[in-house]
Amino acid sequence: MSAMREKNYVICRNCVMDTTDVMIVFDEKGICDHCNTYYAQTLPNWHTDEQGERQLALMVDKIQKTGVGKDFDCIIGMSGGIDSSYLTYAAKEKLGLRPLVFHVDAGWNSQIAVNNIEKLVDGLELDLYTEVIDWQEMKDLQLSFFKSGVSHIDTPQDHSFFATMYKFAEQFGVKHILTGANLSTECIRNPIEWMYYQSDARQLKDIHAQFGSRELVNFPVTSILWHKIVLPYVKGIRVEKPLNSMPYIKEEAKKLLIDKFGWQPYPQKHFESRFTRFYESYWLPERFGYDVRRVQFSSLILTGQMTRDDALKELTQPSYDEQTIGQDIEFVANKLGISINEMNGFMLLPKRTYRDFKSQRQIYDIGAKVMKALGAEIGGKR
Ligand SMILES: [Zn+2]
Repeated sequence: MSAMREKNYVICRNCVMDTTDVMIVFDEKGICDHCNTYYAQTLPNWHTDEQGERQLALMVDKIQKTGVGKDFDCIIGMSGGIDSSYLTYAAKEKLGLRPLVFHVDAGWNSQIAVNNIEKLVDGLELDLYTEVIDWQEMKDLQLSFFKSGVSHIDTPQDHSFFATMYKFAEQFGVKHILTGANLSTECIRNPIEWMYYQSDARQLKDIHAQFGSRELVNFPVTSILWHKIVLPYVKGIRVEKPLNSMPYIKEEAKKLLIDKFGWQPYPQKHFESRFTRFYESYWLPERFGYDVRRVQFSSLILTGQMTRDDALKELTQPSYDEQTIGQDIEFVANKLGISINEMNGFMLLPKRTYRDFKSQRQIYDIGAKVMKALGAEIGGKR
């Protein structure tokens, strides 16, 4: 950390977001804009009480009606992490839905993730559909992102998850996609400088065109216009976030999943993927100084699930396990077919941002404004 940075360093007095988020703005009390947005806009529009129950009842009614006579009435994107696992339980046991559990295997599943998916699916007597992404194409795309120098190298994986689900829904006439996205653990989102929109197909294609070495034939690509306009308004396929309409407390959910299904917890959110673990615990903080734990802890602080003191204490620990990080780096390098030297070389490349490549940023900005004006989306990136 440079002396300059330390001199200008500021941390929010309410959460643990700080000036490693270069766009952060503090008010006269030293409270950051993430917190102020949460109290002014998110909280008043977020209902997990009777109002949430009524929203859920309407949603369930709609979903059940479109599912009459079909094998399932909705699909749930399942990673094996806590949010999607709890959602799967709640959808079946609390809401009485008949979901098809949908899993996208992008090549990076941890053994715990595989076990967790199996345990949930067996315990709830649900059907599991797994789509496997073309590994050669995935690898080429991931290497392209490494070579490009940007921070958001998790984009190919995340993009493949959503694009695959949308394609499946369209192909089989599924009207409802349920996701574990939620305000309770994600009311603060990763700043756009840290993690640019993973669904931006223009950016994905531009980075691949410049650094890729094989054509993408099977890799699923979606675009914002397709999944935000054509799918919902033309084809009637909606993405629902039921966890936002019910009480969802992370520690309680974890306990329930462990007790009821023998589900195994992860040391950190998103660690169900070995690539994401490498990316969030090592790549982002070491190469860019972006520690996603700040975002995750701050969300928990705002929703009363963690104290600021505990968060600050945890942040003094390294974001990765020093005993095993060497193995993690080796695993990722081996799997991508490169040497550890090459991987270390990527760490030292000149830093680029999403602005250095083609993007649909303007469309996202307009979309976000429209959604907020309509009250159709709360929270979101800034
Ligand atoms: Zn704050």
